[in-house]
Formats: sequence, structure tokens, C-alpha cells
Amino acid sequence: MGEKTGRTTVLCVGNPMLARPTRKVAIGNGDEFRSAVRDVEVLTEVLRGSRGVGLAANQVGISKSIAVLEDLTVRDDERLLDKGLETLPLVQMINPVITNRSAEVIVHMEGCLSIPGLYCFVERHDSVTVEWTNAGGEKMRKEFRGWPARIVQHEVDHLDGIVISQKAVKGILIGEYEYREFWREMSPMEIIKQLGADREEGLRSATPRVVERTHTEMCQVADWFTVE
Ligand SMILES: [Zn+2]
Repeated sequence: MGEKTGRTTVLCVGNPMLARPTRKVAIGNGDEFRSAVRDVEVLTEVLRGSRGVGLAANQVGISKSIAVLEDLTVRDDERLLDKGLETLPLVQMINPVITNRSAEVIVHMEGCLSIPGLYCFVERHDSVTVEWTNAGGEKMRKEFRGWPARIVQHEVDHLDGIVISQKAVKGILIGEYEYREFWREMSPMEIIKQLGADREEGLRSATPRVVERTHTEMCQVADWFTVE
């Protein structure tokens, strides 16, 4: 089942809604845009009631190209943060499109409200330029760098029907508990190297430290199809 956030349930990976690209919203004075603006407010409320830093509309069962992003937490875990981690004031995006991507890519840990309890490493562009329409109907354009750029790419992927488990480095997801207990002190590259070694040397069963699941396995968990 999805993570409960007030009245709205966040859908979990395996739900077909998350695998389907969302549709663009017609911008203007019509009912469709007004309805989208209401959806923006619902998404913002759900995001703020969750542990997440971004939320795409299809994660709460609305198949529209809308995402909200906000990260106001002060991060203290600098060991894992190669660069660019900073706060991200609320951004509400309708029809976001990434129009430019930096050549430089960074691998870093990510979680997702639709994949509760698991983390994975995902390669992202260090910076991206995004164009969108805000809730006031204005056309926006901005370059995001570092952590905010990662959040934007994560949400735009959702709107395209892509979740992080499909992009996980080495296809591996780590349990949140295991990560905090055993892996937190290590750099992303060290962790990835060790995960790879575990797999290559057939040590999976010998180590209790990795909860390893693949995207396909997760999609087969029947409970995660549950929608309220
Ligand atoms: Zn997500």
C-alpha cells in the first residue's frame, strides 16, 4: 500500500499509473487550467505532509503533467553530498520540460515516496534548464544545479512514467535501515563498489547488509497495487 499522507495515498511502484506518461495541461483561462491549479494545491499539501522533497501528480493518481518541489531541510550529511545540496523553495510546475542538460553527471543516493523504505543510486545531470508554466499561468524558465537539479529530474521522470528503481545503478536498491546502520559513513562510490563486489563474488547471501530488490521484483508485490 502507498504511504498515507492525510486523505491522499501516494501510489507505490507497480501501480500502472506510475508507468504511464502523464498528459499535458491546456494553458489558459479554461476549466482545464483551473482544475490543474487546484491539483497543484492538493499536491503541495500532500508533499508538505510527507517526508518527500518532490511530488508528481501521477503519484497521487492524477495523470497530468504537474509536479511540486520543495526542500527546506538543512542537510547535515555532507559526507554523502558530493556537491550542490541546497535548500529548494517551493516550485509548482505545470508541463515542465527539460530543455538543456549539462554534460557532467553525478551519481547520488535517492529515495522516492512511491518506493518506501528503499534507496538507490541514480545518475543525474549536474544541471538542467527547465521550462514550465506556474500556477499563475506564467511561463517560467530556470537553470537548476546540484541537489535541486536532481529533484527536478526525478519529478520529470515520474511525469514521463519512469521511477528510480528503473535507473538504479547496478539495479540495486538498499533498505533504509541497512543504509543508516551500515552504509551511511561511506561515500557513494565506495558503496557502489562494494555492492558490485557483493554481487560479482556471489556474496549476496553471505551479507545481511544489503536488501537487494529489482524494479521487476517490486512491481510484483501485489499489495503495492492497492489504491485508496
Ligand atoms: Zn519519486
